[in-house]
Amino acid sequence: MKRALLITLILALTVSFFAFDLHHYLTLESLKQSQHEFAELNAQSPLKVAAVFFVLYVAVTALSLPGAAIMTLAGGALFGLAEGLLLVSFASSIGATLAFLVSRFVLRDWVQNRFGDKLKTINDGIAKDGALYLFTLRLVPVFPFFLINLLMGLTSMRTVTFYWVSQIGMFAGTLVYVNAGTQLGQLESLSGILSPGIIFSFALLGIFPLLAKKFIGWVQKRRVYAKWQRPAKYDRNLIVIGGGAAGLVSSYIAAAVKAKVTLIETHKMGGDCLNYGCVPSKALIKSAKLAQQIRNGEHYGLNTQHPDFSFRKVMARVHEVISAVAPHDSVERYTGLGVEVLEGYARITDPWTVEIKLTDGSTQKLTSRSIVIATGARPFVPPLPGLDEVGYVTSDTLWSTFAELDTPPERLVVLGGGPIGCELAQSFGRLGSQVTQIEMAPRIMIREDVEISEMAKASLSADGVEVLTNHKAIRCETEGEQKFIVVEHDRPSNQTETRRIEFDALICAVGRSARLKGFGLEELGIPTQRTVTTNEYLETLYPNIYAAGDVAGPYQFTHTAAHQAWYAAVNALFGDFKRFRVDYSVIPWATFIEPEVARVGLNEQEANEQGIAHEVTKYGIDDLDRAIADSTAHGFVKVLTVPGKDKILGVTIVGEHAGDLLAEFVLAMKHGLGLNKILGTIHTYPTLAEANKYAAGEWKRAHAPQQVLAWLGRYHAWKRG
Ligand SMILES: Cc1cc2nc3c(=O)[nH]c(=O)nc-3n(C[C@H](O)[C@H](O)[C@H](O)COP(=O)(O)OP(=O)(O)OC[C@H]3O[C@@H](n4cnc5c(N)ncnc54)[C@H](O)[C@@H]3O)c2cc1C
Repeated sequence: MKRALLITLILALTVSFFAFDLHHYLTLESLKQSQHEFAELNAQSPLKVAAVFFVLYVAVTALSLPGAAIMTLAGGALFGLAEGLLLVSFASSIGATLAFLVSRFVLRDWVQNRFGDKLKTINDGIAKDGALYLFTLRLVPVFPFFLINLLMGLTSMRTVTFYWVSQIGMFAGTLVYVNAGTQLGQLESLSGILSPGIIFSFALLGIFPLLAKKFIGWVQKRRVYAKWQRPAKYDRNLIVIGGGAAGLVSSYIAAAVKAKVTLIETHKMGGDCLNYGCVPSKALIKSAKLAQQIRNGEHYGLNTQHPDFSFRKVMARVHEVISAVAPHDSVERYTGLGVEVLEGYARITDPWTVEIKLTDGSTQKLTSRSIVIATGARPFVPPLPGLDEVGYVTSDTLWSTFAELDTPPERLVVLGGGPIGCELAQSFGRLGSQVTQIEMAPRIMIREDVEISEMAKASLSADGVEVLTNHKAIRCETEGEQKFIVVEHDRPSNQTETRRIEFDALICAVGRSARLKGFGLEELGIPTQRTVTTNEYLETLYPNIYAAGDVAGPYQFTHTAAHQAWYAAVNALFGDFKRFRVDYSVIPWATFIEPEVARVGLNEQEANEQGIAHEVTKYGIDDLDRAIADSTAHGFVKVLTVPGKDKILGVTIVGEHAGDLLAEFVLAMKHGLGLNKILGTIHTYPTLAEANKYAAGEWKRAHAPQQVLAWLGRYHAWKRG
């Protein structure tokens, strides 16, 4: 309403300006003709004339009407250089800021909603260097004054910044024009005021701050290297430390573009994902799921059976799966791809040198133009009193420790309610352990929406897991052979309840911390917090040293490690020509409990926290033919869209193969395809993937044009006669 009023007012004023021929007063001839009369008026009441001039100037610029240049000349002609400069300088900055605000108020939301993704880079640039850009634009008089006001209003620049930069940036140009105005009689045309020489000087002045900034950046970069002796020649183009997902992909890319690259791995090729993470956990999940299906035979018209299995064989299968996948990440494979693989522990000794303690006991030193740190993360073990005494396993040790057992641990405690804790708790519950899962937060899988946490809890509970949320582990104790964990829980009555839980084995799955120590970061002074500090190009303090994967964060997934690896390798090898900012705009992930939970983009809680307007469309998979046939008719597809539009902001899928189903939405979001496009795509019947199309259908139904449909109803009635 307010917006409509403002637009009407602006339109009315603009139309009147032209309708009443006011623009004819704002020409050089008209100014020259009236100069005498104005001078007389000014002599009679100088304050009034100055005030009227000021207000008129502000109005003309605020409404983006043509004539600001003439009014600037008039300022000089009427008031002389000093007073004219003072009046024009303030009036033009205030008017420009009003125009900026009008554009922001009327258009910005619309523009940001329509082109949000594309504007992100501009907004990021404005947040970082906006004042410098504006200063350049203001100083170089070839950029139209009114256009700068309106365009800047559409960005995220702060109003105060816009005002003061405009005031300073326009000063030189204003001075030239006001000065020209003091000699109005000799002026033949507006174009003569700024000679090519002056324009060139302004342009130089305008780009000076940007050049200065680049120069300072260059000096700072040189300063970080100052105390190091750069080698005259390098042994390698790239050295990659760590043979997990991030390291493997970085080195592979380097080899593919014919760079000389060495990959160093101290332990097992394939890193956490292959040896301790994704691969073994998914192998275990499969066996556990099958055991559960046997238990639920009646769901499929079969006799219910108690799954009869050897846990030792289940764990042996897990190791067989690791061995079957291992060749994908092996030394042989990567050597064949053109990567030199060294097995040993790497330490960075200066920004270009890596010292490797090889597994045969020898040491090798290599220099490299660039280095990628891909040392991953390790399980975080909380400082819980008594934990070391009772003993525990983490994802690093559980696969080998449990492989020695004939039966799953009878009473198992899983510490942690994140994705890894949930996957392991459910699997061991299904394999027959009596599992207690302990989570300090009010719910498990806290990054997901509340309803997802509730579904996950219900599902784990159905598999026999006792899920304790809002329970804080405070210590571990032993009593002879017996082991206990003590947890604290605040009751609604504000009383703290303590519980002692007896267990046979404890899995610690409370998070993973980046591997930051012992390989040279401290000595080189490379800043770290929870992860290695990098900029958007994944450069560390030393622009030739990059970090990727779990060690760089902020995500801890195999696919994000591989994604970052591309940026690290390409920037490391080709950064002199072009650097790429790592793009985190569409990051998917999945938690492989049953039902699977998969997400890309925003969920409801994030959209609400960030104040992002959204609509929610939900399709229940309980209605899907294939899911009914498979007895997996549960879960949903939840899509967040821009209000009134089919543009996807985020998707959460809960259900069988949710991680696979999500791929269609990941593709859609990445390439800007909306729900209409998904609806218009043929999905094979009967597949689970149809759920995506039905979700799009739900959205379409909710946005059907009711008016048009009413008219169509009438049309068909008329056709029937
Ligand atoms: C139980 C579990 C389940 C998981 N499930 C999934 C999943 O389903 N999907 C998913 O996307 N992610 C999953 N993850 C996460 C995934 O495993 C990691 O995000 C991924 O492995 C990170 O890869 P990276 O290359 O950064 O590090 P890593 O794989 O940890 O590799 C780093 C390597 O660097 C080596 N290294 C360290 N320091 C040195 C040194 N100084 N010199 C030489 N070598 C060194 C290490 O030995 C290691 O091999 C899971 C993790 C766990 C623990």
